[in-house]
Amino acid sequence: MERTYIKDLSAKKGSEVSIKGWVDVRRDQGKMVFLDLRDITGKVQSVVLPNHAEAIEVAKEIRPEWVVEIQGIVNERPEINKKAGETNGDIELEVVSMIVLNKAETPAFDISSDGKEIGDESRLTYRYLDLRRSRLQKNIVMRHKVAKLVRDMLDNEGFAEIETPYLTKSTPEGARDYIVPARLHPGKFYALPQSPQQYKQLLMTAGFEKYFQFARCMRDEDTRGDRQPEFTQLDLEMSFVQEEDVINLTEKLLIEIVSTLYPEKKIQSIPFPRIPYKEAMEKYGNDRPDIRENKEDPNLLAFCWVIDFPFFESTKTADHNEGEGEWTFTHNPFSASKPEQHEWLLKKENVGDILAAQYDIVLNGFEVGGGSIRNHTPEALQSVFEIIGYKPEQIEKNFGHMLKALASGTPPHGGIAWGFDRLMMLLQGEPNIREVIAFPKTGEGKDLMMDSPAEVSRKQLKELGL
Ligand code: ASP
Repeated sequence: MERTYIKDLSAKKGSEVSIKGWVDVRRDQGKMVFLDLRDITGKVQSVVLPNHAEAIEVAKEIRPEWVVEIQGIVNERPEINKKAGETNGDIELEVVSMIVLNKAETPAFDISSDGKEIGDESRLTYRYLDLRRSRLQKNIVMRHKVAKLVRDMLDNEGFAEIETPYLTKSTPEGARDYIVPARLHPGKFYALPQSPQQYKQLLMTAGFEKYFQFARCMRDEDTRGDRQPEFTQLDLEMSFVQEEDVINLTEKLLIEIVSTLYPEKKIQSIPFPRIPYKEAMEKYGNDRPDIRENKEDPNLLAFCWVIDFPFFESTKTADHNEGEGEWTFTHNPFSASKPEQHEWLLKKENVGDILAAQYDIVLNGFEVGGGSIRNHTPEALQSVFEIIGYKPEQIEKNFGHMLKALASGTPPHGGIAWGFDRLMMLLQGEPNIREVIAFPKTGEGKDLMMDSPAEVSRKQLKELGL
């Protein structure tokens, strides 16, 4: 018999069906056994009655989390037992026969709860069991739905999804790189990408005009609540655009996500307010202001933009210094200045007053994305590197390819990257991005289930020349 999914049972009253799934709960009442059964689509209560002797025998033996195949009859529940508003609340499955497809050891923890009472160590060690709980199933499926909606919308807007390499090159800007030894080139290393920034710009040089990608990014930073060593960005880039175009597209996507997939939520103000960096610092004391009018309301989404960031920061106050000069960049060395300050950038004048064409998108006090219009001429990019204090050899060695590309007919362009995990965390009302990632790492960067990082054999090290 063809398999029926549990969500479809209530439409099959009176017929005999075959279902497959897990035993969620088992209640042995002596003559009868009640089983709550679960598949990816939902749950159903079933009953094994004494007249089905073989099925009763199996039902007496089975335990929660065993995998079973059941033939049964979909019976309408008596009026008083109906549970309105619940999936399958109006039916009960009468089990006719039952086969065990696989047994299960007693799970390491309860998976019927929301899991918040269980320690992370245990949850992450048995992540495949932890993921069975309905809260996590919802988080992961909603993540898929949001990604699918974004893909479809961007496809409609003429974007192409293009993959960029994972084995790339370590460059001095940004966070610490994860590096990968190159076996064929002893003593040399690839770096895992911190973002597809340079590749996406080179795709604009290549003429694709509208690019996007759900890109995995790797940064070897100390982890904390909303950070992971690898995380996902919705990364996009467009040619012939200005700040306004990227901002409008982002708002359109976010509004559509909320209205289609989170209709119970309310966006505080549309269009999203734009707050200059200076004002954010003065009024809120930080550059990711939480502008919610009511912080008690879990369904309130207060998006805002932070704009007009200073391009450069004195290395005396910055927490990073890539070059050897007086200045470092605040966000992204590939950004352009505001158009009206382009001359200052080229002439390296009034450096501290130059504002970047950079925009960050903030949701309820969390930065969920950032981007900029880029420098598309080699002179302007060169000027940024000089202001940061890179030596000419350093510029040539690390960014020669970018300068050459900009000198090869690169159109004006700009883009943005969303922190997709963080956005999903906030949409799902979760306190931590680990709750919206299928296989996250611990705070110390460990995969407890795989027991990684792990040692490798001497032979492997030797092959790599290490
Ligand atoms: N690549 C930048 C980042 O990872 C985002 C962007 O400017 O598009 O922060």
